[in-house]
Amino acid sequence: MQKLFNHIGDRLRTIEDRLTVRTQITAAVAAMAIVLVGALATSAAFVSYRNTAELVNTRLASIASTTAERLDRYMAVRQQEVHLFSQLEPLKKLWQEDPVALRKSLEQLQSSFTDFAWIGFVRPNGIVAASTGGLLQGESVAQRPWFKTGLDDSTVGDVHDATLLGSLLATRTDGEPYRFVDIALPVHDADGNVLGVLGAHLNWDWARGVIASAEANDGDTDTTLTVISKDGTVLLGPGMGSKKYAGDRLPGMLASRAGTFTEMPGNESLLTAFFVSRGHREYQGLNWIVTASQPASVAFAAAAHSARTILAIGAVASLIGVLLAFLIARRVSYPIHAITVEADRIGRASGPTMLPRQSGSLEVVQLTRALRSLLRRIGFAEEQTKEAEARATENAMQFKDDINKLRRLADTDYLTDLMNRRAFLAAADDAMEFAHRYKRGMATLMIDIDHFKAVNDAHGHAIGDIVIKKIAETISGNIKSTDRAARFGGEEFVVLLREVDQAAAQLLADRIRGAIELSVIGDGATHILATVSIGIATIAEGDRDVQDMIERADQGLYVAKNTGRNCCFFMPGPDKRGIRAA
Ligand code: GH3
Ligand code: MG
Ligand code: MG
Repeated sequence: MQKLFNHIGDRLRTIEDRLTVRTQITAAVAAMAIVLVGALATSAAFVSYRNTAELVNTRLASIASTTAERLDRYMAVRQQEVHLFSQLEPLKKLWQEDPVALRKSLEQLQSSFTDFAWIGFVRPNGIVAASTGGLLQGESVAQRPWFKTGLDDSTVGDVHDATLLGSLLATRTDGEPYRFVDIALPVHDADGNVLGVLGAHLNWDWARGVIASAEANDGDTDTTLTVISKDGTVLLGPGMGSKKYAGDRLPGMLASRAGTFTEMPGNESLLTAFFVSRGHREYQGLNWIVTASQPASVAFAAAAHSARTILAIGAVASLIGVLLAFLIARRVSYPIHAITVEADRIGRASGPTMLPRQSGSLEVVQLTRALRSLLRRIGFAEEQTKEAEARATENAMQFKDDINKLRRLADTDYLTDLMNRRAFLAAADDAMEFAHRYKRGMATLMIDIDHFKAVNDAHGHAIGDIVIKKIAETISGNIKSTDRAARFGGEEFVVLLREVDQAAAQLLADRIRGAIELSVIGDGATHILATVSIGIATIAEGDRDVQDMIERADQGLYVAKNTGRNCCFFMPGPDKRGIRAA
């Protein structure tokens, strides 16, 4: 279970991450609207149906009871009329003696109450003594139930088809058979002896009128009224003559006297109210059941209509709500979108460096404020880093400079700016290795100032230094940039010549010597002429290192000193035999 919830949660979050705030809010409002409108419409429809059902039931019950009471009253009045007629003083004599006059009186009664189809007086033996229209006069009705019960007491018989009279009365215009309700009562003489039975047949059509007017009064409600006898026979209304409410319902209706129920006689449901007639005054009543039915579809039409209206209004309101939610959500999410777009541009080429202020909600204002502050902090940190970098670069360059200066100082002779011995030897070693490897020419000049001691003695040590410097300059000015010159200490110089053979070396040595000889050193008052002796050596196959070559140049210098000074001497390399011998 926990797993399932977790799974659903994960799934929801995945979906949420794919939807915009706008879509989420719109969807939530739409779902809420559907639920709300659905609940509202359902409950409104339910309440409306319930109220309508109550109203309809009340109305139907009232129609049924009113109609039943009208039927009862009518019957009571007819029974009373017949009763009054039997009591009329002027008729007292006629019952026994004057059937002709009696018939006239009966006909008068009939003419004032046209619903009487037939009124007749029957002697105790069952023979009709007098009757309206003379119908059945002289015939026996001894077997008719109304006569039998009428001998004993005032009775009202239930609706029945006309048996004897049917053929005697004029045919009805609608062609239907006559149906009667019988009223019968005994007629007594002054001593209480039964003179006969006064019987009247009420044409059942009057009840039709009552029902029709009740239905008409109810207006356009499709209400149907039915009168049913206590044994379930339909006396009036649809399905006349057939039996209705067989089984348990009929006894239930008779016992409860009034009520409502829903029935389903065909494929349409009917709301039905019933009322069992109770009689009126002396009239005992025949337990007629009056039902008033209305199709549920008609009864609930208004309720259904109002439910539909509520649904329609709800749907429109929901649509408006969803639209509003969409617009609001768009307004709410727009600044976030704007922030995203702006943030995406920050730090790109020609992009902004700061987020513009956004508004729209407190959260958005706070978010922009926080982001702007963050960007400011990042910018500050970046500046600091850049400054530190610049400082570091500057320092590194300074160090490099210092190191270069130091290196130059370490490699340079302080007096002449030429290389010192250490630097020279390192460079000469490299040059010799290169010359050996690539079989290139190379030479060394060993230069020594002649009688320098005398210069020092004559002019002083400082002037001696100037002489040394001047000679150094002359040497530097006469060699190529790839050649190297160094002061080996005192007034001795060594020159390394690259890519030269013996002849070129000798030529260059002599050029240096000549240039020094010609140069006059002095500061105006003092003129000093200086010469140098030069020993020359070229690279030899047997040289173990550059020292061997310098050694030979030194030997050459020695020879030059001894052969008169101010000259050059080339010292050849060791011959092969000599090496082999050694
Ligand atoms: P030679 O022709 O035989 O070379 O004679 P010389 O007098 O030059 O003899 P040598 O080369 O032996 O003498 C070197 C002298 O150079 C000794 C010293 O007084 C002088 N000297 C050495 N170094 C310096 C220096 O740095 N400055 C000065 N002013 N004199 C120096
Ligand atoms: Mg010397
Ligand atoms: Mg010297």
